[in-house]
Amino acid sequence: MRSKTIVLKFGGTSVGSIERIKIVSKIILSHKSKNTKVAVISSAMSGVTNELIKKTKSISNNFDSAEYDALLSTGEQAACALIAGNLKSLGHNSRSWLSWQLPILTEGNHSNARISNIKTKDIKNYMNEGGIPIVAGFQGINSNFRITTIGRSGSDASAIMLAKFLNADECIIYTDVDGVYTTDPRMHKKAKKIKKIFYDEMLEMSSLGSKVMQPTSVQDAKLNKIDITVKSSFVKKNGTLITGSKKSFSDQIITGISSTKDDAKITIVGVKDKPGVAAAIFKPLSDNSVNVDMVVQNISLNKKETDITFTIKADDLKKSEKLIKNNKKIQFKKLAFDKNLSKISIIGVGMITTPGITYRMFKSLAQKKINIMVISTSEIKISVLISNKDVKKAVACLHKEFNLD
Ligand code: ASP
Ligand code: MG
Repeated sequence: MRSKTIVLKFGGTSVGSIERIKIVSKIILSHKSKNTKVAVISSAMSGVTNELIKKTKSISNNFDSAEYDALLSTGEQAACALIAGNLKSLGHNSRSWLSWQLPILTEGNHSNARISNIKTKDIKNYMNEGGIPIVAGFQGINSNFRITTIGRSGSDASAIMLAKFLNADECIIYTDVDGVYTTDPRMHKKAKKIKKIFYDEMLEMSSLGSKVMQPTSVQDAKLNKIDITVKSSFVKKNGTLITGSKKSFSDQIITGISSTKDDAKITIVGVKDKPGVAAAIFKPLSDNSVNVDMVVQNISLNKKETDITFTIKADDLKKSEKLIKNNKKIQFKKLAFDKNLSKISIIGVGMITTPGITYRMFKSLAQKKINIMVISTSEIKISVLISNKDVKKAVACLHKEFNLD
């Protein structure tokens, strides 16, 4: 029988205490068999990275970036040593590997580097001899042999890249949630766990607030065609498979519904309808890190003036109002604001091939007398802006309409 290789990744809460590390060791051993080789990526114990960041801040807000990474990467070293040590005390062959020992090569700036290559020869040999390598996530080295880190929550990406360079058969991300849900279970009791989700759908879900995985890690998995299973290290339950393969997908049209909170909208009434105006409006916002989300511009009836509406986070409302009022490059008649808004999106690759989804969404919201303020669509997503107070109702009716209950 051909042997297979799997990569297991454990997040901060999964290794958050010695008790947890003992449980994680059992999970690792449950995967290992005569025909299955296991490589592990671990994150730091929960809270540790934050504590280290605090220490740098108490020295300087401009703490040296190379030393910052050298310091932050230590959390993973401790967790890996504890796991490997625990496995050894149970009589198994295991050892920790730090990024420079493999090495894990990265490119780009400190704190935000990207893994470009992982030399797997040593851990492959070790696994062939029955050992379990425990590799530090979140870290790498750069071409100057300095330690780098790859962005907060980066150990997911470490696992995905290790799976890629090991040519692993499976990559399982153990975390404190048991998978990806059709919508936030706290918002809607009938939310169900999704068995399989496409990378693109997951990207939409994760960037819209389902905090299961960082969008950049999902992007890495997509680019490298690594199937990921997300599951809980706390409860024994099937997780969610994130994949690009169409194999045995159900014919569900909509996979999930996400919602945001605390959005705000700004309408600039009566701006000149000529080239360059939209750019002039959004430049100062972008220069000041205001994240603009939905944008609609009305067709100008008199060919002279138009209205532009866009959404931002409510926290940025004051700042944006000032920026627009002080913007000498634009003229307008009036500014209108609205906060306490929420964006509800339905997501599913099935809508590419199924007509009438937009209509069904609008119809069910209308039946519940929910007012839609702004609409935006992409190939696999339809989003509407509604009042915060209608969110629960909207999620419930859409969840039912698209057979997710
Ligand atoms: N320990 C790092 C962090 O807290 C990396 C990770 O958890 O994935 O961001
Ligand atoms: Mg983490």
